[in-house]
Amino acid sequence: MVAYKSKMVERIRLPSRERRERALEEAGYNVFNLAAEDVFVDLLTDSGTGAMSDAQWAALIRGDESYAGSRSFDELESAVREVMGFSRVVPTHQGRGAENVLYGTLVSEGDVVLNNMHFDTTRAHVANQGGDPVDCPVEAAHDLAADEPFKGNFSIERAREVVDDVGAENVPLVISTITNNSAAGQPVSVENTRRVRAFADEIDATFVIDACRFAENAAFVREREAAFADGAEIVEIAREQLGYADALVMSGKKDGLVNAGGFVATEDDALFERCKQRAILYEGFPTYGGMAGRDVAAMAVGLREAVEEAYVTDRLEQVRGFAAMLEDAGVPIYTPPGGHAVYLDASAALPHLSSDEFPGQALVCALYREGGVRGVELGSFAFPDTDRPELVRLAIPRRTYHKEHLEHVVETAAVVLENRETISGLEVATEPTVPELRHFTAALEPIPL
Ligand SMILES: *Cc1c(COP(=O)(O)O)cnc(C)c1O
Repeated sequence: MVAYKSKMVERIRLPSRERRERALEEAGYNVFNLAAEDVFVDLLTDSGTGAMSDAQWAALIRGDESYAGSRSFDELESAVREVMGFSRVVPTHQGRGAENVLYGTLVSEGDVVLNNMHFDTTRAHVANQGGDPVDCPVEAAHDLAADEPFKGNFSIERAREVVDDVGAENVPLVISTITNNSAAGQPVSVENTRRVRAFADEIDATFVIDACRFAENAAFVREREAAFADGAEIVEIAREQLGYADALVMSGKKDGLVNAGGFVATEDDALFERCKQRAILYEGFPTYGGMAGRDVAAMAVGLREAVEEAYVTDRLEQVRGFAAMLEDAGVPIYTPPGGHAVYLDASAALPHLSSDEFPGQALVCALYREGGVRGVELGSFAFPDTDRPELVRLAIPRRTYHKEHLEHVVETAAVVLENRETISGLEVATEPTVPELRHFTAALEPIPL
């Protein structure tokens, strides 16, 4: 059931078809280069694009901008302790700041790092430390239709193979990303998390949870994991699951319900001290960490709201309803849908394009051209040299769009599919220097049909 009404509005416009064509060309067929004003419904990301509540706006005004000892930091500390169960918190400007602080502390040259699936900034940070990021997804993660409850799980079987190969002494860090962003936002079970903890102990590794979407994950756990079917509270599930980790990496831009911010949290005093030192170098003094005090205050409120019953139910229902509308319109999607986005199956949508013609990116461009809708490619363009499925992510900003917006997206996708044979493939024209991040800045051009 819908849990919000609007108190403030923002004007949006659908530019003319001519303008959209030109904008796409000027952007080098890379929608990261579009001006947001030229976008009608923006499903590029759920990161930092949500709407804050009136309570968060109130907290913002009361934010304490003191350099050291800010009251807003105390509020964040209490929220992280009560909602997530961790009492030592190092704030950072956003999630990747937290990754730099934590992985910069834990990863050295030559280390192998295991993760159910590395999110792109995680992969880049591990690589930047000289580490080797290795994904350990379960087989169902890449099966677009497998009807399994926890396709985001960490494969301990796969992790064991890697450890047997490289030696446990070279694997100091094991990460579980909940929900699994790179596997279509699929959830990770608490049982799987418990087993990853035991596995990390066995190989004497630190266990980190990337907790960006911990609240969405907890809601899935309650729906799908038998041990929690008796209706435990979201916050209890979250605390139990997160409690298996030695440390958390958090982007406040996801389940922190803010537009900027992040943190590292741990119970380990020694690790906390090391993270604080690195945070001072890269982020800021440990009671503000690259955020304004007001943003710290808003994130403290946001973390509590993220585990409210009405919020998570509304959130999951919206994403699920969107997926159902797309399926009804005959648009091929990854099922079941995850927590923060619906993923379109670009290979099925545009079967006439081979993967070196970037069918996902072609679909992204077609959605923009047809309806001013912005999604993002997560296939062979974003992840060169991997055999991931050709997916297009339509991420849903939190508490932002209404059913009418999503209906427009569904209608747009249906028209695109009707005219699929007119859509040409793309090739890369100019590439940036960091290959892991090429989809953010590369320019493309259409391959004539
Ligand atoms: C967004 C995200 C990050 C990085 O957070 P930013 O706030 O964007 O820097 C790390 N891990 C996962 C799983 C994410 O979704």
